[in-house]
Amino acid sequence: MAGVEQDQRDADASDRAAATIAVENPATGAVIRTVPLLGPAELADMARRARAAQPGWEALGFGGRGAVMHRAREWMFDNADRVIDVVVEETGKTREDAQLADLLYVVTALAFWARQAEKYLADEHVPSWRNPIAIGKKLILRYEPFGLVGVIGPWNYPIANSFGDCIPALMAGNSVILKPSEVTPLSSLLIVEMLDECGIGPDVFQVATGDGDTGAALIGQVDCVMFTGSTRTGRAVSKAAADALIPCYLELGGKDPMIVCADADIERAANAAAFYSMNNAGQVCISVERVYVEEPVYDEFVGRVADNVRQLRQGPPAGEGTVDVGAVIFPPQLEIVDAHVKDAVARGAKVLTGGHPHTEQGRFYEPTVLVDVDHSMACMREETFGPILPIMRIRDLDEGVRLANDSEYGLQASVWTRDVRRGEQAARRLQAGVVCVNDAQMNYSALNLPMGGWKSSGIGTRHGANGIRKYCKTQSLFIARWGLKREPYMFPYRAGRTRLLRRFYKLLYGR
Ligand code: NDP
Repeated sequence: MAGVEQDQRDADASDRAAATIAVENPATGAVIRTVPLLGPAELADMARRARAAQPGWEALGFGGRGAVMHRAREWMFDNADRVIDVVVEETGKTREDAQLADLLYVVTALAFWARQAEKYLADEHVPSWRNPIAIGKKLILRYEPFGLVGVIGPWNYPIANSFGDCIPALMAGNSVILKPSEVTPLSSLLIVEMLDECGIGPDVFQVATGDGDTGAALIGQVDCVMFTGSTRTGRAVSKAAADALIPCYLELGGKDPMIVCADADIERAANAAAFYSMNNAGQVCISVERVYVEEPVYDEFVGRVADNVRQLRQGPPAGEGTVDVGAVIFPPQLEIVDAHVKDAVARGAKVLTGGHPHTEQGRFYEPTVLVDVDHSMACMREETFGPILPIMRIRDLDEGVRLANDSEYGLQASVWTRDVRRGEQAARRLQAGVVCVNDAQMNYSALNLPMGGWKSSGIGTRHGANGIRKYCKTQSLFIARWGLKREPYMFPYRAGRTRLLRRFYKLLYGR
C-alpha cells in the first residue's frame, strides 16, 4: 500500500514538474507566454544553490552589493520602455501606473538601499545604563543576514511589491528566492535577466514561478519569509512560518478611509479622491477605498469627484496618455468588485457614474462612484480592490474617526483639512499603520518612513531601518575589557557580601 501511495506521489510530482502556467494579458485576453509551474523538488534544488551562493555575495560587502544595485538602477532607466512593456502586457494597467510604481519606485528603492543599508546595519554601541554588573563592559548589537530569504508577491504591482522587498534583503547580504503571483510572473523573470547582466552572480537571486503550492513549498526552504498579498493567504503563510519556526512579515489587505473636513481644500481633496481610488484601476493595497465627508462640503465634494471620474478614459493601453484606468488584473477580482456594487445598490446606494463590468475584450470595470452608502454594505467593510469609490456623509470629524476605525483593517488612512494641527490630532486617533494629512499613498515613496498594517492588515513593516534589519539575525556582544579577579557575586557565597550587594542595589534602585 505504501508503495502505491509513493507511486502516486511520484506521478503527481512529475505531472507538476511538466506543468506550465499560461500568462494572459488582462486587457486583451491574449495568452502572452507560458512559464514553468515549479514544485517542492525544484524549490529544494533552488534553495540548495542559493545557500551555496550566499557567502560569496555577503563577502562582497555593502560596497560590492551596492555597486550591483546601482548598475541595476541604470539598467532600469536604459531599459525603461521594455520594463513598462512587460508590466503593462501582463497586467493590462496603464503605462503611467506601471511607470510610477514598477519603474520609479524601484529605481528609488535601488538607490536608497544601496546607500542606506550600511548605515542601518552598522554595529550599534549600546550604553550599559545604571547596571553595576555591566559597568566597564562593551555592549554591541550587530546584524547578520539570515542566509536565504523567501519573498512572495501579489499581482497588482508585479515589480514594486515583489522585487521591491527583495532589494533590502539582498543588500543585507542574503540570497533571495522570489515567488511572484502566477498571474504576473514575467516582470520578475525580467528582473533575473537584469541582475544577471548587472553582475549579481549565479543563484543569489532566483525566481520560482508557480502557484500557491509553490509559495507554500518555498516557506519550507527559507530562513525568513516576506509576504505581500491577501489577509486570507497571509494567515496561511503565518501558520506555515510558525511550523517552520521562521520569522514572517505580512503586508496584507486594506480598506483605507479618507476623511474630508469642512475646512479642507475641496478641489485638491476631490482630485486626490478620484486619483487615489482609481489609479492602477483601484488595485492598490493603499487605495482610498471609502470616503467620509463633513456635511457642509459633502455636495460640492461629491459633485467634483463624480465629474472627475466621469471623464476617466478606460480600455487597453495603446501608449502613453491614451487611457487613465486599466484592466482588472486577476479574473476572480471582477466578480468581487461587481458583487460589492450590486450589494450596495440592493441596500439603497446610488451609482453616480460607472457600475458595470466590461468583458467584450479583456477584463474591465467602469470607474464607479457610489453615494448613500453605510456600514451595512460590503463596499464599506470588505476590501474591494477595484475602481470603486463609495462616499458617505458625516456630521463631524469625531464621527469620521469612529467610522474609519470601524474596520477589521488598519493599513493606511488620510485626513483632509486646512487646520494641519487638527489633522495631526485626528491622525493620532486613527487605527492605521500610516496616516496621511492632506495626502495619501505617496508616503510609500518616502523610503525612510516605515509602512505596515495594524489589525488584519499585517505584521511588521517595510522601509526605514526595520525594512532591512528584519532580514537579519541580531547578535549581542557583551565584552569585558577588564574585571576583578573575583566579582562580588561569585563563589564562595558569604553572608556579608550577599547583604552588602542587596544594600548597594537598594541604594541604586530602591527609590
Ligand atoms: P494572494 O494572497 O492571493 O496571493 C499573494 C501571493 O501568495 C501570490 O504569489 C500567491 O500565489 C501566493 N500564495 C497563494 N497561496 C499561498 C500559500 N498557501 N502559501 C504561500 N503563498 C501562497 O494575493 P493577491 O495576489 O490576490 O494580491 C492582492 C492582495 O494583496 C490584496 O488583498 C491587497 O490588499 C494585498 N496587497 C497588500 C499590499 C501591502 O503592502 N499591504 C501591497 C499589495 C497588495 P498565486 O498568485 O500564484 O496563487
